[in-house]
Amino acid sequence: MSQAQATGESTLSYPLRFALTPSTTARAEAERDAILADPGFGKHFSDHMVTIDWTLDAGWHDARVMPYGPLQIDPASSVLHYGQEIFEGLKAYPHDDGSIWTFRPEQNALRLQRSARRLALPELSVDDFIESIRQIIAVDGDWVPKGDETSLYLRPFMIANEVFLGVRAANRVSYHVIASPAGPYFADGVAPVKIWLSTEYSRAGRGGTGAAKCGGNYAASLLPQMEAYDNGCAQVLFLDGETGTHIDELGGMNVMLVYGNDRIVTPRLTGTILEGVTRDSVLQLARDRGMSVEERDVSIDEWRDGVASGAITEVFACGTAAVITPISQLKGVNLEIGDADAPAGEITLALRRELTDIQYGRIPDRHGWLTRLDS
Ligand SMILES: *Cc1c(COP(=O)(O)O)cnc(C)c1O
Repeated sequence: MSQAQATGESTLSYPLRFALTPSTTARAEAERDAILADPGFGKHFSDHMVTIDWTLDAGWHDARVMPYGPLQIDPASSVLHYGQEIFEGLKAYPHDDGSIWTFRPEQNALRLQRSARRLALPELSVDDFIESIRQIIAVDGDWVPKGDETSLYLRPFMIANEVFLGVRAANRVSYHVIASPAGPYFADGVAPVKIWLSTEYSRAGRGGTGAAKCGGNYAASLLPQMEAYDNGCAQVLFLDGETGTHIDELGGMNVMLVYGNDRIVTPRLTGTILEGVTRDSVLQLARDRGMSVEERDVSIDEWRDGVASGAITEVFACGTAAVITPISQLKGVNLEIGDADAPAGEITLALRRELTDIQYGRIPDRHGWLTRLDS
């Protein structure tokens, strides 16, 4: 076996060329428009999807755009048993002139590579990743909604697809991209949410998969997430698995504390926290505003005392799906920090506005974060 095969690089064709099989059951314009008028989140999918196969012998091959539809998976396929799966999430944004753009896709591509390494899956090149996104827009660009704060959510994912019950990294893998039109993530829009502090469960441990975007992390977060719902909260906050004293992140979003007008504090990347593209972008925008940025351990005591003294003025969560969501209150067993009725903070809303203004092309893209997809 060659070195290229051992590292999972394609020995056949690079960059990959995509074959297109158009859908014969694509929705009519009227049906699509009805969906786009009220898309919700993650409920509707465009007419096509991308598939690329990988085998240990051949590397990445058979890149294709095909009709959206069920995957044929053998019941003994390894992903169904051992959860060897990773994914990404990014959005295609409509601009006023009709063009379609995405935000820092190379960051998602690099993160998919890091997730792949941790989950013993093959790495897809940054160029092939970005081309796979372009391909779905080329055929399903009409599925990008036009309304305010709407987007076409893109979900690339990779699964182990070898028919084998032995426990080892699969020799057969597939990568797919599906696309789902999206309105605002939370039903309440930018209204502040209450967050539940899970003290019984962790989402990640030292040496685990916390920094990888893998389905297993989400599976582990669902029971505590139900606990959050039961307590009237929208999301769950996890503490570090080792000491249970520092905040890590939410099930699917990073967390930031605002001190006054000039300082923003967020947990440092310890290996148990997912390195959010939104997190990184928000920290940059905060620096641009002259705020100081601290990435360090943040204890629950700091949060409680800071809110009590008034030093912490705002708290918010961030991630691609929900962008920036104000947090009004942190609740837990014998714990209540902040006022459930508090309105969204000024800095929170300003950062959110600036980030979405860049994404939707309403202000200059001074950091070169946007990539045009439809040309
Ligand atoms: C995807 C994700 C985030 C947010 O990352 P973005 O790149 O900003 O979308 C945060 N935490 C977890 C656990 C995630 O899976």
